[in-house]
Amino acid sequence: MFQKILIANRGEIALRIQRACRELGISTVAVHSTADAEAMHVRLADESVCIGPPPAKDSYLNIPAILSAAAITGADAIHPGYGFLSENASFADMVDAHGLTFIGPSAEHIGMMGDKIAAKTAMAAVGVPLVPGSDGELLDLESARETAARIGYPVLIKAAAGGGGRGMKVARDTSEIEDAYRLARTESRTAFGNDAVYMEKYLDKPRHIELQIMADNHGNVVHFGERDCSLQRRHQKVLEEAGSPAISAVQRDALGETATAALRKLGYRNAGTLEFLYQDGQFAFIEMNTRLQVEHPVTEMLCDVDLVREQIRVASGQLLGYEQRDVTFNGHAIECRITAEDPVTFVPTPGRVTAYHAPGGLGVRIDSALYAGYFVPPYYDSLIAKLIVHAATREAAINRLRRALDEFAVVGIKTTIPLHQRIVNDPEFQAGDYTIHWLEKFVAGG
Ligand code: ADP
Repeated sequence: MFQKILIANRGEIALRIQRACRELGISTVAVHSTADAEAMHVRLADESVCIGPPPAKDSYLNIPAILSAAAITGADAIHPGYGFLSENASFADMVDAHGLTFIGPSAEHIGMMGDKIAAKTAMAAVGVPLVPGSDGELLDLESARETAARIGYPVLIKAAAGGGGRGMKVARDTSEIEDAYRLARTESRTAFGNDAVYMEKYLDKPRHIELQIMADNHGNVVHFGERDCSLQRRHQKVLEEAGSPAISAVQRDALGETATAALRKLGYRNAGTLEFLYQDGQFAFIEMNTRLQVEHPVTEMLCDVDLVREQIRVASGQLLGYEQRDVTFNGHAIECRITAEDPVTFVPTPGRVTAYHAPGGLGVRIDSALYAGYFVPPYYDSLIAKLIVHAATREAAINRLRRALDEFAVVGIKTTIPLHQRIVNDPEFQAGDYTIHWLEKFVAGG
């Protein structure tokens, strides 16, 4: 087992990983930008190293500075969290080349799944169903037209290197295909430095259902069930549930069997998430994330498992030590992503938190690095807290979520707590009756 882990991240996820390390008796090294010198993840770490100025490219994405910090402090492994360097295959390679362990999958699998065209090809080859679409990259407008005619409008043009919902354009009919194709390419080039695009059938009423996987280095793979992440704004998740109100235990088992068999064939290791769109009783794979997800806590509450602890254990070479039949699913869990944004306009609201009171009580969990007096910096993601509730039934979880949101006080900056309060009180949400398009309409007042 590792003695010391460097956590190459900030905010709530850096704290989350520290907590798992501490419970395993592993010391922690925090890295931080000059803007984060007072941050909670720095205060609570055993050691900390400043790795650069505020912009992420000079600090949290500064590979030489992070590797130097690991060398200076004598860390033997690096946990990347999510975002930043977590899906950077060459970083994973460099960590290994420096004699450290990267807590995550192999660089080869990170690279494969980071290219969504390669990911779809690999998944199809091991028996995972896909959303109908182009056979690989769209090389020109003509092949975009032909593919759209073959699969039928509406279609979605997506960036091969995509992430965060960027580089995606819908074409509803032939008149829109040229603009969609050109815009998707331009946006991909600007956002990802890579203008390869592909096409999928645009599904009109899917749910986003994803499956949590964990694999050791010895060929054992289990799943921890599904999460329903259909509540999205601009293709970004806002609220997540485990399990999905739309999926039965039989469907969960079947999907889990397909996914774990596929990853066993690929020789995948550590944590991963397979994302699917679910419509008319069919699951279709869209992408795989080769890292811990923001929404992992709902799975942890449902299955009573510490996924970060499992990541660390298997990265150190330990066996999973349990089988699929040992994984149990109890009750229902919901997570709200609370961001420093105006709850109506979604304009970011960095600034000083003058007072802070987090909810508590039975079945309530807060993953956050906030404290009274903290200054939310303008440089990074606006996520400031995740509120997670767990209860015996979905209805009880919703009631618990409502009262926890009512207790939650973040003073000094605007947050999206009022948006979550509105969602929780909505009858359609309460009925579990929503698709990926629901929240956009809800926010627009429709
Ligand atoms: P990213 O990596 O940018 O997040 P994804 O491929 O994971 O992109 O898609 C993000 C979201 O976009 C999905 O959760 C879903 O809401 C929507 N989406 C993606 N593909 C389709 C599709 N073929 N039809 C309809 N919606 C889609």
